[in-house]
Amino acid sequence: MDARERLRLYLEQRRDMGESDLVLDSLPVDDVLRLLGDKRPVRDAGPAAPASPSAPVAGDWRATLKSVGADSPVAAVVPPTVSSTNSEELSVSVRGSKSPVTEPGHPIVIGSATRELIRGPLASLESLEAVAKHIAACTACSLARTARNHVPGEGSPTARFVVVGEAPGEKEDELGRPFVGRSGELLTKILEAVHFKREDVFICNVLKHRPPGNRNPTPDEIKVCSPYLLRQLELLQPRVILALGTFASQTLLQTTQPIGKLRGLVHRFHGVPLIVTYHPAALLRNPAWKRPTWEDVQLARRIYDSAVQA
Ligand code: URA
Repeated sequence: MDARERLRLYLEQRRDMGESDLVLDSLPVDDVLRLLGDKRPVRDAGPAAPASPSAPVAGDWRATLKSVGADSPVAAVVPPTVSSTNSEELSVSVRGSKSPVTEPGHPIVIGSATRELIRGPLASLESLEAVAKHIAACTACSLARTARNHVPGEGSPTARFVVVGEAPGEKEDELGRPFVGRSGELLTKILEAVHFKREDVFICNVLKHRPPGNRNPTPDEIKVCSPYLLRQLELLQPRVILALGTFASQTLLQTTQPIGKLRGLVHRFHGVPLIVTYHPAALLRNPAWKRPTWEDVQLARRIYDSAVQA
């Protein structure tokens, strides 16, 4: 497929997802010009700059990255590609066909907007506090024995923007609150950069107890814990979900595709637009991802704004 065709498909995808403006959130200008046949030399990308006129006014998280020594030249952002590799079997095609989506690089659609997310006793819990109480008493996996505190999540019960991370770390375990350690500080600044206060959104994780030594969650832990997240999402009814990192993204989108293939697209989780971006902890280690992350959160914010205005 040639570059123009890729660009056309990309713009079509944006239109299908309800965007009426031409928002090239994942394509640097030089890349677009190159795709359109511009032969002039590519200018230096320079320091990370906001991809739109809506520059951050508060909490410059790029400065935070710099202050922790995580600043380096920005990597070029690869536009979403359309590949024909067959690796996944997913339930619904974004273009409405009945056949499964099998190509990475396409938006993933999970479930329908009307279907309930969970059945059983959790489905009858009518508030976030009730879900948190259940989590506090949960012994479905061994993590409850090793963790100091449960970390159900926090934020406004009326929040329509939900951030989903992986699992509590040491500080979160100590305080019983999500994203309060070093990556939490960065998340707070990222949210502020798109004019969200922490208390305006709901922040939670796939796992509600800390895995010892911050090891990766096991598939069994994800399986037994994710109903809590699903019930939280049912109660919150978000307009946008921002999935941070591999585990949250792959769990919600039921895929094993790497994050580099999942970001830059608007997925659907039971009708809710879901944006994938890098985990703040990964961002602290890999400053080259700060620009795509900035683009992802801006995209999430724009979709949120259109949804709440509609
Ligand atoms: N990382 C996460 O994924 N969640 C937290 O709450 C903290 C760090």
